Amino acid sequence: MTKIDPYFADELKKYGAEDFEACFNCGNCTAVCSLTEQSLFFPRMMIRLGILGLKKEILASPEPWLCYSCGDCSETCPRQANPGQFMAAVRRYAIASYEPTGITKLMFRSSSWFILITLTIAIFLGFFLLILKPETEVTRWIFTYLPYDVIHFIGLIIITITGVSVIWGMAAMIIRFRKNSVNTSPQKVPFLKAIRAVIHEIATMKRYQSCDKEEGSFWKQKPFYLKPWFIHWSIMWGFIGLLAATILDFLLKDPASTIWWPSRIIGTMAGLLMLFGSSLAIFYRLKKITKVYDETCLADWIFLFFIWIAGVTGFWLEISVALEADILVNHVVFIIHTVISMELVLLFAFSKFAHAVYRPLALFFYFKKQSA
Ligand code: SF4
Ligand code: SF4
Repeated sequence: MTKIDPYFADELKKYGAEDFEACFNCGNCTAVCSLTEQSLFFPRMMIRLGILGLKKEILASPEPWLCYSCGDCSETCPRQANPGQFMAAVRRYAIASYEPTGITKLMFRSSSWFILITLTIAIFLGFFLLILKPETEVTRWIFTYLPYDVIHFIGLIIITITGVSVIWGMAAMIIRFRKNSVNTSPQKVPFLKAIRAVIHEIATMKRYQSCDKEEGSFWKQKPFYLKPWFIHWSIMWGFIGLLAATILDFLLKDPASTIWWPSRIIGTMAGLLMLFGSSLAIFYRLKKITKVYDETCLADWIFLFFIWIAGVTGFWLEISVALEADILVNHVVFIIHTVISMELVLLFAFSKFAHAVYRPLALFFYFKKQSA
């Protein structure tokens, strides 16, 4: 049964959607968006659903996750309803809705809560990292204040919390999407084909690339490495690489100070990618290079800065370890690096980061429909 929430539009405004009620349903945005096609009508349809208060329908749609926030639609909207911004707000709303504790709601809707929660977590993490002491001896100078065993112990707790939150959120999303696809797509479609299509999209960002190819796009003539899709790709693969390096480090342990240790090679390459992507993303926002970059909310700013600081401090530590520079400042940098990296992982399911799992999942449902 269709249920209308008369306060839904107001709710979406708390997540950053501002002028979407000005929309008069002309369809320009859908025509301009290079990612829409015959069966998809976003962002126009999403805005309709938002204005009508059809909350469940929005949460059961993959469309918000198919948008890459290029902003082309907002540039051409005759009513300045800012459909690109609306789609970003819907994604924030969806992340908060799939997550059961209410922490994400607080963080996305209030800058004060966002700062308070991130600061509190940082203080707690720092406190436990510094007071817990293992029984084993510290073998390398870098672990004098933050012992290796303690980092791994707290790291395991964090990964467990994040894992449970992510699985919960994904389950909530799947339940809603399945109800939706039962209504609209009764045909059985090949599972593996959809998975292959998702992997291909993650590896190449082919759909995102198509946003920059539109005639008149600000990015059309720019080299690929400066384009938004490549920045997004760099941050994403940088993060995946660092996660892989951390897991390898945990499995193989790290007795070595050599840069040729497998986890170190992967970590260095991934760190370079992540630092490159996050530096450009911050630079574009500071320069307000396009309308989209001018509209960054506080949560996104902090998220990007965390990634950037994790990258810079990571390389600082690489050099310090290589130089055997056992001085206080390097221990402080190690504490900052560890706390921020842990916080990033801990907040994965409670922040913009969550799109890293929700988007592939939505793409899977989308591709499943496509191949039917
Ligand atoms: S958001 Fe703007 S371009 Fe899109 S349908 Fe509404 S008025 Fe038209
Ligand atoms: S922001 Fe870009 S990808 Fe998203 S709906 Fe608008 S035109 Fe399409």
